[in-house]
Formats: sequence, C-alpha cells, structure tokens
Amino acid sequence: MNTFISKTENIKSLYQDEIVNSLKRIKEPDYRANQLINWIYKNYANSWDEMTNLPIALRKKLSEMFILYSSKLVKVQCSDDLTRKFLWQLEDGEFVENVLIPANPALYGEPDDRMTLCVSTQVGCAYKCKFCASGLLGFKRNLNAGEIVEQILAVERWAINEKLPELENKKRLINNIVFMGMGEPLANYENLIRAIKIINAQWGCNIGARKITISTCGLVPEIRQLATEKLQLRLAISLHAATNDVRSKLMPINKKYPLENLMEALRFYRMNKSGMITFEYILIEGVNDSSEQAAKLAKLAKPLRTKVNLIPCNKVEGLDFHSPSETVQKQFLNVLKRNGVTATLRKEKGANIDAACGQLRLKTESEIKHNTIKT
Ligand code: SAH
Repeated sequence: MNTFISKTENIKSLYQDEIVNSLKRIKEPDYRANQLINWIYKNYANSWDEMTNLPIALRKKLSEMFILYSSKLVKVQCSDDLTRKFLWQLEDGEFVENVLIPANPALYGEPDDRMTLCVSTQVGCAYKCKFCASGLLGFKRNLNAGEIVEQILAVERWAINEKLPELENKKRLINNIVFMGMGEPLANYENLIRAIKIINAQWGCNIGARKITISTCGLVPEIRQLATEKLQLRLAISLHAATNDVRSKLMPINKKYPLENLMEALRFYRMNKSGMITFEYILIEGVNDSSEQAAKLAKLAKPLRTKVNLIPCNKVEGLDFHSPSETVQKQFLNVLKRNGVTATLRKEKGANIDAACGQLRLKTESEIKHNTIKT
C-alpha cells in the first residue's frame, strides 16, 4: 500500500471563515478570500494560474499552502440510460468512484430535472456486506472533507468541458447528492459533516440539505448523533432484510447493532428530525425475497413512516447473488403496498457500466494487478 500522505491541505476541506483567516495570516484582505472561493466553487478552476485576478505572488503562495485538486480522472463510462460512472485516482494512488444519475421518475416517483451524484466517503469499506463490491478489497482509508467535496466539483467541471447537453439552462449540473458511493459515510463522521456543510453552503456547492441523502448500513451511535445536528438531511438505511437471522447473514454489522437497536435509533431520529427516512432493500433471489420478509419489512417501515426502495440486486464479479424474477419483485412490492407502505421498485440503472457500489474500483485494481488497465 502506498502510504504517501500530503503535508498540505486540500483547500476544499476549509470553511469560508477558515479561508478568510488563512489569507489574513499572510496579510491578504478579505475580498481575496471571496475571489478565491469564487474561482473554486463558481468557476471550477483546477489550476492556480487560472485565477487571473489574483496577483501572481499570491497564487504562488497559495500553491505552497494548499492542494487545489487532489484527484485525476482515470475512466468515465456512460451507460445506455445516460448514467455515467467516474473513476478518480487520488494523490496517494488510491481510487474513488462516482455515479452521475439523471432524473428517474421510477426512482423518485415524479418527473423532474434532478441530477444526482453518488458520492464516496472512504477508499474501500470495512463493513463487508456480502452483496457489495466495496468491501471485497477491504478498508483503505477515510477521505478527507476536501476529497469528498471535490468529487462534485470535478464532475461538474468535467461536464462543462464536455459541453454536456444536460447543462443547458442550468447554473450547476448537480442538484442532488446521495452518499451511496464507496465506504460507510457515518464511519467517517467528522469529515462527512464538514463536507456536507461546504456542499450545502451558499458560498460552496449551494445544494440544499434536503437534497442530500446519507446512506448507512446502520451505525446506531452515529445515527443518534446525526439526529442532533442542525442540518435537515435525508437518511437512507441499507436494511436489506427484515429479520435478524437473514440480516446478520448479509450484513455483519447486524451482529453489533441488531434490528431492535437500529429501530430504536431511528425512532429517536424521527423524534428529532422531520427529514425523510428511506429503507434501501436489495432484492436477492432466495435470500431475502420471500413474502414473509416483505410482511415483516412492512411492520418495520409503517410505524416510522419510512419509504421503501426496492433494488434488484446488481451482479458483482465474484459474488454469487442474483436478482429475483420480475414477478417475484412485483409480488414483494405488492405485499408492502397492501400493508400501506410507500414503496418503489427501482429499475436497474447503469447495469452495463458496473454502476453498483465499488465495482469499477474492484475491476481497475484487478486490471492494475494483472497489468491490463484500459483507460
Ligand atoms: N455504506 C453505506 C453506503 C454505501 S452502499 C450503506 O451501506 O448504505 C449504498 C447502497 O449501494 C446500498 O444500499 C445499495 O443500495 C447499493 N448496493 C451495494 N451493492 C449492491 C448490489 N450488489 N446491487 C445493488 N445495489 C447495491
């Protein structure tokens, strides 16, 4: 493993007042901080030399103090449904992924101009959910706040350079964020919250808190902590089973925080927050797709007024899980609906580009190992 750690800080890890203070320390007036912030967040500058209204000496100083961009684009894959998947290489050689997902009425229940970016919070993942590609290579490290924020800016910059048609009549490309990329967001709590505050800030990416979803495998103490934050975020729980025996087989975290504890934490969250809670439920043939599981899932969802997102399992190389037939998927959905639960069956998006969490990195790491990388 490459252990290189940068001594300089990614400037996108800093709040506005911290940027102002950093510039004060080198005797620069406040308006310079605003110019700098505009270059980063409004003009997507990826070199200090682009910042032409800053004096050359200041640009040089900034380049010694901060990293502007720490990732390089390795790969973009575009699927037939215009879902795009990005693979970035970080300074220390590690990889992170993003998926850019155009509005999908089937996913959200209403037609709109939503453009969602699926954002990663860690390199790899420590939680080893059995159906997920991210855990297969183990956990490498947390992303810092700047590396999290940068994913949004880098994709938007890419879209501008590509003159993406979806940009038409829009100030910014991305208006919805889901932390469903690689890693467990709540295991990188401080960096996640810092990044979200920057993503949410008007001076930053200016994306409303209600348009930001944190997805978690169910870290109970952090869910409780999140309930006390000022932000009104959306919370998605990767549930994937409605009984402890099935869930523990799929998700080792369930042994530490079984369903009773998780539901109690969600009741606490509900009492403190008005934001929506969703249950994510990957349908896996012969594992969690029975009508009995569906009925039990309804019992968990109803008292919490939780919406259920059913997701047909994506194929992951090396994993022997399959999606059930459409008939079984619809049966499962109908049991939920009959029990009064709001539920949607997500159409598989980006299937032909390995869009399931962690898949592109998995493939690339193996290509590097076997020296067959194609970019
Ligand atoms: N650790 C967090 C976020 C990353 S995974 C969490 O567990 O929620 C987020 C989502 O990735 C899962 O809920 C699931 O929707 C999706 N996912 C992972 N593996 C998948 C697979 N094989 N098929 C379909 N979706 C998958």
